[in-house]
Amino acid sequence: MSTRIEGRVLRRGDYRYESRRREACWHAGVPDRYPEVIVLANNEDDVVAAVRLAREEGLRIAVRSGGHSWSGSHLRDGTVLIDLSNLRHVTVDREAMTGTAQPGIKGSELNAMVAEQNLFFPTGHCTGVSIGGYLLQGGFGWAGRDYGPACMSVTGIDVVTASGERIHADETQNADLFWAARGAGPGFFAVVTRFYVKLYPRMRVTMNSGYFWPASAAQDVYRFVHEIGRRTPTEINLLCCRDPMTDGAPLISLNATAFTDTEEEAREQLSIYESCPARPHVITTRLNEVTDTETLSRYGTDPHYDETKRYLADSMWTHASFDDLWPNFEAMLKTWPPAPSHLVVFNWGGYEGQPERPSMAYSVEDELYYGLYAAWTDPADSLTYTNWVTNHMRAWEPYASGIQLADENLINRPYRFVTDENLQRLDVLRAEWDPDGLFVSWLGRPEPRTAAADTKDSPVAGPSE
Ligand SMILES: Cc1cc2nc3c(=O)[nH]c(=O)nc-3n(C[C@H](O)[C@H](O)[C@H](O)COP(=O)(O)OP(=O)(O)OC[C@H]3O[C@@H](n4cnc5c(N)ncnc54)[C@H](O)[C@@H]3O)c2cc1C
Repeated sequence: MSTRIEGRVLRRGDYRYESRRREACWHAGVPDRYPEVIVLANNEDDVVAAVRLAREEGLRIAVRSGGHSWSGSHLRDGTVLIDLSNLRHVTVDREAMTGTAQPGIKGSELNAMVAEQNLFFPTGHCTGVSIGGYLLQGGFGWAGRDYGPACMSVTGIDVVTASGERIHADETQNADLFWAARGAGPGFFAVVTRFYVKLYPRMRVTMNSGYFWPASAAQDVYRFVHEIGRRTPTEINLLCCRDPMTDGAPLISLNATAFTDTEEEAREQLSIYESCPARPHVITTRLNEVTDTETLSRYGTDPHYDETKRYLADSMWTHASFDDLWPNFEAMLKTWPPAPSHLVVFNWGGYEGQPERPSMAYSVEDELYYGLYAAWTDPADSLTYTNWVTNHMRAWEPYASGIQLADENLINRPYRFVTDENLQRLDVLRAEWDPDGLFVSWLGRPEPRTAAADTKDSPVAGPSE
């Protein structure tokens, strides 16, 4: 193993340590957890050397790519934090429609690069998220219903293991490590230094329609989305939030996006939203706009994520009826936190055209995805809003089939993020690949499911192997 670190090594108390620790968490609610050492890796040799440093100093290892974990999962006491934000190299092979990307590159940057060659990768809905954490936890991205979770488009990884070895893993070599890398998220037990990915032809037409209602329309709009979510080929982003300009009463916005070959086809797909029972009560609309995913991210998604605020996120997969979910939602509307706190609903599974899932750790999905995000400024409000999110998500547990690691709140509410079988297999693989327990793991672990709960299992869960 090499010992010299070309990048920076910051120890607790060093000048720049605290600013770098804070930068490792994208929002203002930086957890009070302190790595002993932060290694800003410049290259893969630095990663190997950082693993060795951790062993020599009896410390554990945490890994950061873009720092967009809501919970700051990689900020841990007693660790060497390996910061990969400078590992940003990308290659694109236009002919083969493949690419490679290091984990520090942001999804939006990757997509801008491949777009130059008229290609596309299903990156996240927000411009800031890096691919390191995004691909390991699954990856819920643009056109994701067509391509599946983005980790399905990963064909291989370069990895530094707990023993400091540099290896490649894919379907044919070190296949069990590759299996784990597609879904283990912050519980992955090695450092990924490069992803090998499939790329797709860039969609010819991206068309979006937006509708905005007062909160009084919530019940009708959400029920409508529950009814049509599964059968429409369009992607729905249904959002409840106070108006960010006035912080007034909550508003409901429904944004639907069609990815098609022709504008006519897109208009046809989007026409279903005109039949929403709440249509007559709409405040404003923006219909059939030809756009692209970059614009949708920048103007539609990003304004809800303000790095000067503190955030707590939580989530659930569900196929429950909206009538089951409504009482909790109605209660939430009466106590909605300040803008840009929001509830978002995406349609996802049960869709006819969805691709078959391969065997991978990622294994819990459902028809609809609910993400709940509180955002606040004053640290004195942290307990209030942490409880607001956690307790409202707890109230929905009888209707949930799991959560997504993208928006995990495991420290407050451990809940099922892979099948029990896959969780057990991840434990076995961790013991094999990281026998000394060098890598930190998830901030919380779910209890195994009871037989009764399993009858509510997702109709679209992937293979459990
Ligand atoms: C504003 C915002 C918008 C988001 N939008 C989406 C979205 O549209 N779709 C979606 O699916 N998710 C979304 N997410 C969730 C996001 O994908 C996850 O938080 C993801 O983990 C972030 O990746 P990162 O590299 O930036 O995070 P990091 O915080 O750097 O990484 C998260 C965890 O992954 C592990 N990890 C990261 N890199 C490596 C590596 N190279 N090797 C080993 N382990 C590693 C570490 O355990 C780390 O704690 C969003 C998050 C935010 C804050």
